[in-house]
Amino acid sequence: MYPFVFSKAATESAALAAGADGARYIAGGTTLVDLMRETVERPSRLVDINGLPYRDITVSSEGLRVGALVRMSELAAHPDVRSHYPVIAQSLELGAFAQLRNMASIGGNLMQRPRCPYFRDVYSACNRRSPGTGCDAVDGDNRMQAVLGGSAHCVATHPSDLAVALVALDAVVHLRSTAGTRAVPVAEFFLRPGNTPHREQDLRPGELITSVHVPAGPHTRRSGYLKVRDRQSYEFALASAAVALDIRGSVIRGARVAVGGVATVPWRLPRVERALVGARPGRATWTEAAARAADGARALSGNAFKIRLLERTVRRQLTTIGGL
Ligand SMILES: Cc1cc2nc3c(=O)[nH]c(=O)nc-3n(C[C@H](O)[C@H](O)[C@H](O)COP(=O)(O)OP(=O)(O)OC[C@H]3O[C@@H](n4cnc5c(N)ncnc54)[C@H](O)[C@@H]3O)c2cc1C
Ligand code: SF4
Repeated sequence: MYPFVFSKAATESAALAAGADGARYIAGGTTLVDLMRETVERPSRLVDINGLPYRDITVSSEGLRVGALVRMSELAAHPDVRSHYPVIAQSLELGAFAQLRNMASIGGNLMQRPRCPYFRDVYSACNRRSPGTGCDAVDGDNRMQAVLGGSAHCVATHPSDLAVALVALDAVVHLRSTAGTRAVPVAEFFLRPGNTPHREQDLRPGELITSVHVPAGPHTRRSGYLKVRDRQSYEFALASAAVALDIRGSVIRGARVAVGGVATVPWRLPRVERALVGARPGRATWTEAAARAADGARALSGNAFKIRLLERTVRRQLTTIGGL
């Protein structure tokens, strides 16, 4: 690990001033410290933001508001989140392991970096870590990589489970810097690699995530998250699906579907949603809608299995949430 200066910010203005001056923020430290140990990240100044008042969880008629410093385990255990937004609670519970969830913050979860092994090995070529050096994953071990949203410059999957649930529910990230405040839909906050894979989030230098807002709606209660992985704990997704359905009478009035583990950003599936809205719930509807899940997918040498897995994961989660 390279030497760095560490301080704690007692106020928001002190944190923002330090951020504007080039310091990096640290919350739970569960991913940043790992990357510093591996010398993938080399910040010279760290500012601990745990003294800031971003710790509230509020559920109201407007929706769910979560402070950026709320811990993953805290949000997953909140009774109103479990009953009104089960997809969020489940996406958190299926991530990492208990001790890590107790430490890791919601803001840090959205800012985590790719799990691509070449990204974490400083001796490999990686455009995300060192722009312009190439990508060892394209012709290397790419079993875990993306089949959607990749470019010639990067094919790493987005790692956050929570982000998939947030994209499905049209959540918004609230940001603050010395220049003022901004609100960015989560679906736009994560950037596809294109020609600039090192730009992963729409976060400006020195900007802080202050909270996340999930709008209320008739679909949020009937929702859930399915994560398919190589082992049942402490593992990232091969494919995952966040589904929320509004079913009234015998008609699907609204549908939200997003997937993870298969794309470079949390991936919304509008074609699947269109196939669901107005249809009757049932096996034929789930199968027909899920058949569109992998539209546009392109496999690399080692991950063609993900295309079929994606379709099956979506179908299974539609069946679980919608019933037969
Ligand atoms: C072994 C292991 C397994 C894991 N498995 C999963 C998994 O299955 N699913 C999953 O989703 N995640 C998983 N994770 C990732 C985990 O969820 C993240 O490490 C965690 O959420 C990061 O939160 P943190 O508060 O510790 O972030 P930190 O490490 O403190 O910070 C991470 C980054 O976020 C920035 N940051 C933090 N807070 C803010 C803020 N408020 N505003 C702006 N920038 C900020 C920091 O500057 C840093 O760049 C795993 C991690 C590990 C180590
Ligand atoms: S897939 Fe992306 S993160 Fe992985 S080596 Fe290539 S550029 Fe780096």
